[in-house]
Amino acid sequence: MPRTVVVTGSTSGIGLAIAVVFAAKGENVVINGFGKPEEIEAIKDRLQSSGGGKVLYHPADMTKPAEIADLITTAAKTFGGIDVLVNNAGVQHVEKIEDFPIDKWDQIIAINLSSSFHTMRAAIPFMKEKKYGRIINIASAHGLVASPFKSAYVAAKHGILGLTKTAALELAEFGVTVNAICPGYVLTPLVEKQIPDTARARGMTEEQVKTEVILKAQPTREFVKAEEIGAMSLYLASDDARQITGTHLSIDGGWTAA
Ligand code: NAD
Repeated sequence: MPRTVVVTGSTSGIGLAIAVVFAAKGENVVINGFGKPEEIEAIKDRLQSSGGGKVLYHPADMTKPAEIADLITTAAKTFGGIDVLVNNAGVQHVEKIEDFPIDKWDQIIAINLSSSFHTMRAAIPFMKEKKYGRIINIASAHGLVASPFKSAYVAAKHGILGLTKTAALELAEFGVTVNAICPGYVLTPLVEKQIPDTARARGMTEEQVKTEVILKAQPTREFVKAEEIGAMSLYLASDDARQITGTHLSIDGGWTAA
């Protein structure tokens, strides 16, 4: 019996890699995020043909609570409940606090933190009903440590770890686990886009940002691969992981060991 897996922000990067691994296992996958209709159609075809499960796209904007609730209820109605919820959608903005645009602060808190509250609020009743669920929040090494010029992102990612722990305690007796994954740097569009801004904020070249800021943070000096986060999500959603709840797993090349 395929499970129903909802992955927010899965038209690109880490979310897409997570959707790929679950689809390959034959699960029914609900994808979400922005993109050109033809690109989203191509993703749907690719996922659907890989494992034989069904794929649904829902365009909910993660800044809009009513659309988020509709994503969850549509997924539950279409496939009969929600088994795995991966809160992954996220954006970044790099700027000094005193110059940080207020609308960017609000947007990052909405997408990177509050959207997970809204998906969980809507999905938890379906999980409780089945006495089964897996909630995986894609946090960041920035949920554990800070970097300058990323105030909203670091605040949101620290917040998501608190939400993860609270939900885990509330759901522990209902067969539902709630965990966070804290990746280091993954070379996705989110990171590629911040390289010019970080270069400007720090007065460096873009190449210096890659070697002296980004990979400097990771003792392995290598980017984490999105597929590796997909594999970790699959594990957290497995039966073997049923006693793992209310915690985070780091996948950061040693970044937060220092
Ligand atoms: P990405 O830019 O490649 O993908 C982001 C996804 O979120 C896209 O599908 C995009 O359409 C979607 N999205 C953005 N705004 C949205 C909105 N308002 N509503 C719905 N969907 C929206 O980014 P990524 O690097 O794959 O990041 C995914 C998650 O992983 C984020 O939460 C990010 O903070 C986290 N993360 C990334 C890294 C990294 O180095 N890339 C490291 C740690 C954590």
